[in-house]
Amino acid sequence: MNTVTMEKRDNIALLIVDNPPVNALSHSVREGLVDQMSACAADDSIEAVVVSCAGRTFIAGADIKEFATGPKAPHLPDVVQKIEDMEKPVVAAIHGTALGGGLEIALGCHYRVALDSAKIGLPEVKLGILPGAGGTQRFPRIAGVENALDAILSGRHVKAKAAHKWGAIDKIVTADLTDAAIDLAKEVITKGPRRTGEMTIDGDKYDQAFFDGFRKSIARKTRGYFAPEKCIQCIEAAVRLPLKEGLAFERASIGECFVHPQSKALQHMFFAERQVARIPGINKETPRREINKVGIIGAGTMGGGIAMNFVNAGIPVTILEVEQAALDRGLGVVRGNYERTASKGKISAEDVEALMGLFTGTMSYDDLADCDLIIEAVFETMDIKKKVFTALDTVAKPGAILATNTSYMDVNAIAQVTSRPADVLGLHFFSPANVMRLLEIVRAEATAPDVLATCVDLAKKIGKIGVVSGVCHGFIGNRMLAQYGREAGLNIIEGNMPHEVDKALFDFGMPMGPMTMSDMAGLDIGYLNRKGMDRADYETRATDWIDRVVEQDRKGLKVGAGIYDYDEGSRVPKPSQLVMDIIQEESAKLGIERTGKSDDEIVERSVLALINEGAKILGEGIAYRASDIDVVYANGYGFPPYRGGPMHYADQMGLAEVYAKICANAERYGDRWWKPASLLKELAEAGSSFAEYDRKNAS
Ligand code: NAD
Repeated sequence: MNTVTMEKRDNIALLIVDNPPVNALSHSVREGLVDQMSACAADDSIEAVVVSCAGRTFIAGADIKEFATGPKAPHLPDVVQKIEDMEKPVVAAIHGTALGGGLEIALGCHYRVALDSAKIGLPEVKLGILPGAGGTQRFPRIAGVENALDAILSGRHVKAKAAHKWGAIDKIVTADLTDAAIDLAKEVITKGPRRTGEMTIDGDKYDQAFFDGFRKSIARKTRGYFAPEKCIQCIEAAVRLPLKEGLAFERASIGECFVHPQSKALQHMFFAERQVARIPGINKETPRREINKVGIIGAGTMGGGIAMNFVNAGIPVTILEVEQAALDRGLGVVRGNYERTASKGKISAEDVEALMGLFTGTMSYDDLADCDLIIEAVFETMDIKKKVFTALDTVAKPGAILATNTSYMDVNAIAQVTSRPADVLGLHFFSPANVMRLLEIVRAEATAPDVLATCVDLAKKIGKIGVVSGVCHGFIGNRMLAQYGREAGLNIIEGNMPHEVDKALFDFGMPMGPMTMSDMAGLDIGYLNRKGMDRADYETRATDWIDRVVEQDRKGLKVGAGIYDYDEGSRVPKPSQLVMDIIQEESAKLGIERTGKSDDEIVERSVLALINEGAKILGEGIAYRASDIDVVYANGYGFPPYRGGPMHYADQMGLAEVYAKICANAERYGDRWWKPASLLKELAEAGSSFAEYDRKNAS
């Protein structure tokens, strides 16, 4: 297919890349660009060239489908070099987004014009690689080292206006991009090519200390990641080496990234996030309901944050509480959040008022009568939830979607108290609800397809990744978390101290260890929960010591003491002698001879517990795909994305090994919690993987 065509405009060749939907740099585009450049070079009537794109965007990146097979020649670096080497000036005309390889093509061009709405970026780092077609060498030369570090290490989209200030774009126009590019091409004929690769950088300014300072400034964000350091090294090479050598260094570095398991994991996450909206029984033709107004019940920790998501998307919210004081407190927290955002300069004081203007507080259910979606976020008690849904059933208009934010409860039972179970589902937000990207969309037995489809779309609209889960205790994420938490608790009673378990899992890449997390969430909720349960239904050895901690009035960070001690006003956990004594005593009571495990053993035990439960969740059809589980665990629970989520991690270990290890744990710890998932057994014995399971199910 001819994806690059040429039109002559007087003495200018206008190349048009047309490879819908996003003009990705497929083989035909690379070949087309090379051929057309050769043709332009050979044609004496042509004095300059414009590279432009049809459709909604400039070249938006590499053809990611070719990642698996490896691209065929001409390779992108050679295409970019071919453009840069042209003796006739080449101008890029950028609209939409010029990303990754697309921007590298534009950097190979000698001049760049962009629509003011355009954006550029080098997002490769997010896929565990780096811009490998000269991006790390040319971008610092044209845009400056600081800006290149910013753009390449964050992978963010940079607005055309900012890129213009950086010098990466020569001219911004508001309309008639092609004409503007042709005019510029005519203008520069006499000047000739201005090759980015021939520019030099003032090396003195960017010495070792400069780069070390930068490394320090991003260390927290990039902890555990492989590609960011490689990106920095390439930019250092751009400062110190001539283009050709810098390009060779870049080539070698991207090679290291490609063979590193992190790039596979991050690419897996990338595709996994794009799969979540593919749901059995739902397609484009499934009708959607209009959501123009949302009701929230409960303005506590979750209610306020949930409401903010809708208000931020311009959807007004009515929020209901039992008493004025609770309402005032809830709305006060919301206002405080917006004011903090304003104090950072991200929104104006007027914006704060406009956003707050979209909230209506009430204590009367009648005020929810015009809401299209109502989300309940009251205490986690079935009785109260049922009362709320009974009340909602009487006031909500026909067709309104009724959702519960419950963390664990049976959404089917909640739906059954209404006369319209088809309109009921779970929308499980994560705390802080205005920040966390994950939303579990809980499909109950009777949930209507259009209700589900509407909520899947809505998740996207409010900037969330919506993953569909079936009904079970804790849905996908909290059901897995329970296994993880239990094994951490057992590790402690068997020999390790909380800070040792936390350190092992932090070093594995979790944002914090499970004990720090428990302190942060508050130990009292779990405590109360257990008091209402039969002791035969949970692993008392993992939690009795925690109950004793709570009974010492140590409910966690909010009271300044929990599993850890905290200095006044500090959030930094410090091992507590009192708690360690409790642990020793409890171990002795159980007749356990304490033996500490290594970091690797601690991590393996916790992660295997996640994998086994994930496999059960998948086998039961609670999750549609293993990759959905990975999306849940990476986005809601901090599993390091560079390890690809627990199921991908299992695939990388090999399911036969995973299964053997889980069987060994069943031997060692008993099979009460370690009974291997039957799906895992099946896949392991067949030499298969979770990825293959997903692929088979998709076809
Ligand atoms: P919370 O105690 O902070 O807030 C609950 C609010 O609901 C309170 O302000 C209370 O006044 C109000 N309320 C209680 N009964 C009510 C009623 N009948 N009508 C109207 N308002 C009522 O609790 P939370 O942490 O926001 O949790 C709310 C729900 O969200 C629970 O189901 C919980 O399991 C779930 N959830 C919590 C988290 C979390 O991290 N806190 C995360 C996900 C889901």
